[in-house]
Amino acid sequence: MKENELGIEQKSDTGQSNIWFVDEKRYISIAGKDMKIENPGFPVEYLIIHHSATKDTKEEDSIGIKKYHKEEKRWTDIGYHWMCEFVDQRYEIIKGRPMTQTGAHCRAGRMNKKSLGFCMVGNFENNKPPDEQLFLTKSVVRDFQRMFSVPRENVLGHREAERMAKVANNNLTDCPGKNLDMNLFRKDLLT
Ligand SMILES: [Zn+2]
Repeated sequence: MKENELGIEQKSDTGQSNIWFVDEKRYISIAGKDMKIENPGFPVEYLIIHHSATKDTKEEDSIGIKKYHKEEKRWTDIGYHWMCEFVDQRYEIIKGRPMTQTGAHCRAGRMNKKSLGFCMVGNFENNKPPDEQLFLTKSVVRDFQRMFSVPRENVLGHREAERMAKVANNNLTDCPGKNLDMNLFRKDLLT
């Protein structure tokens, strides 16, 4: 890990992912793309983790997810604020719905009104989340924890959020999949 005046650069063991934040202007820069982190138009009390329940191909699958949310579900934009997926030859963070808008990713407990939605592209009901993808997602989640003072117990899997809101057992979502252990995930987060 290397710190400079602009923020923090983090590299994984294989050196494939790198991410750094420009602190004051709140830009996230990854894979040569600069993405603005807007001031949210709602209180960010929780960070909710999802999987897409779709295959993560070498293409930018978020484009298809966005199309589905807009054209089939008739939402104003993709439901999630941020995605993590494999594109071309590395994992990337993709910007979804601007943070000026509440998301459409977890209705239970009015969670959309007080959380940011992160989607790891892949199906973790069937497969294990790849280490590289977990590493990058956790890095980003930690940065958002820092930005909005979110304690790790408020970083929840979609299913956990539904359970907290007392959704009936037979109606609980599988998301983010039984192979994504949220207790393990939280161990690598900030307290
Ligand atoms: Zn979900």
